[in-house]
Amino acid sequence: MTAVRPRTKLIVPLTQTTVPAMRVAMHAADQAGADMVECRLDHLDSPSPADLAELLTDTPLPAIVTLRPVRQGGRYEGDEPRRLALLAAAAEAGGDYVDVEDDVPAADRPAGKIVLSHHDFARRPADLDAVLQRIDDPAAAVPKVAFASAGPEDAVAALDALRRLSRPGIALAMGEPGVMSRLLAGKFGAFGTFAALEAGAESAPGQPTIADFRDLYRWDAIGPDTAVYGVIGCPLAHSMSPAVHNRAFETAGVDAVYVPLRVEPGAEHFNRFLDAVRGADWLGVRGLSVTIPHKENALARADEVDELSRRIGAVNTLQVRPDGSLRGWNTDYAGATDALCEAMGIARDGLAGRSVAVLGAGGAARAIVAAMAHYGAEVIIYNRTVSRGQKLAGEFGAAARGLDALAAMSAEIVINCTSLGMHPNVEATPVPAEALAGVSVVFDTVYNPLQTRLLREAAEAGCRTVSGVDMFVNQAAAQFEPWTGKPAPRELMRQVVLDRLSRRNQE
Ligand code: NAP
Repeated sequence: MTAVRPRTKLIVPLTQTTVPAMRVAMHAADQAGADMVECRLDHLDSPSPADLAELLTDTPLPAIVTLRPVRQGGRYEGDEPRRLALLAAAAEAGGDYVDVEDDVPAADRPAGKIVLSHHDFARRPADLDAVLQRIDDPAAAVPKVAFASAGPEDAVAALDALRRLSRPGIALAMGEPGVMSRLLAGKFGAFGTFAALEAGAESAPGQPTIADFRDLYRWDAIGPDTAVYGVIGCPLAHSMSPAVHNRAFETAGVDAVYVPLRVEPGAEHFNRFLDAVRGADWLGVRGLSVTIPHKENALARADEVDELSRRIGAVNTLQVRPDGSLRGWNTDYAGATDALCEAMGIARDGLAGRSVAVLGAGGAARAIVAAMAHYGAEVIIYNRTVSRGQKLAGEFGAAARGLDALAAMSAEIVINCTSLGMHPNVEATPVPAEALAGVSVVFDTVYNPLQTRLLREAAEAGCRTVSGVDMFVNQAAAQFEPWTGKPAPRELMRQVVLDRLSRRNQE
């Protein structure tokens, strides 16, 4: 199926300091598939009228010309009459659009097509309604508002602004929490959104690269009916979930996109965003992944949760049902259990009566201990901090020891839920190699590297091995399938994870 290209333009801002460099970048933007460029004259060393003809004659792409003053977050420090004269000259020299800030009196604005803009680098304006009215001036070609975001609810406000403007405009919540406002601009028929030519070339915080828009966030496939999914957490910079789910949507032919939603720690931040989602059915949010530090907050907000997830005390998946209510479940336990059972060739019930050593007593261990106990396994927890292990064991009818007791361990299944052996400390391992003799299956939840020292020594000792990547893919599939009603493309998801890990390790 050929995707219909959204009308919304990908605009690459050019922030070079000389005209020749800006011209080179203009052609690079064209090559990269941009629809338009924004020439940020305020980044030029000392912009003059003579520069404008050189810059704006025979451009490969339509250009917006901007000379942002310091008072609206730009770099231009000169006087206002000179600034306005330069903008007027830019329009005459061939600039397709001229960006003019909304505090410039109408009588002083240059002739030509105007992007009438308002910026707030501190917060979402308290008087956003008044700002929208001001920039939605019929004399201007494109209304634009951009404001700093404190949470993804500010992105919801920016997307709502797009719906309320009388014609295609630009509305952006700047910064990492607001990135959804950029990624979904096409869904809401924006005039355009800004995309950096490459990492490090952003003109405002939170701007994804043009390659990320296209290759990671499905820019060309997003339309008005596209369903929205995302991952709530903090931090999110290394999350592999957007890459995994977006590729899976594409392969399975699902009209959906998956975006990062950075929410600061604290239930109040989590609830503020969920309230915004619940009040915005037009946004089309259908499901959310939830990661650290919000899994407990998600449990508290879910209207329906299965018994085991409730006992774990954390959910990492929410489904937004048509009536707006939330179903929550935990796919960490499901992902781990299924990865283990697949490797052993048994159903979950087949775990009953087997002896399992769980190493660790943190969040991952908690989900796995609960699942193992639920399916009737005999669990012994080994943890560095023995009291923490004892507390967890007490909740799920398990036993607890210190890590030093591992030398004398005897278990059929060993599951590492500590971070020992994780990149870059790849020579660390929680279990002495000698203790692995007689163990049938060793499962390491650590997924970077793919083969940890523990798994390598387990394979040498003749054990079957299960990697953290198997768990990660299974937990993502246990989100994808109920969300979409389609089988998850597990092999592809696995390949995406492996590619990301190898790229990350090369950085
Ligand atoms: P967590 O809540 O912070 O727990 C960390 C656990 O590791 C604790 O039991 C801690 O022991 C132990 N630990 C940390 N450093 C140690 C050291 N130097 N020596 C001995 N023990 C040490 O973390 P988590 O969320 O449970 O994550 C744990 C691991 O699970 C991570 O490595 C992560 O990669 C993996 N994981 C994998 C997936 C997946 O999909 N594959 C999903 C979730 C997590 P103390 O109690 O003594 O501090």
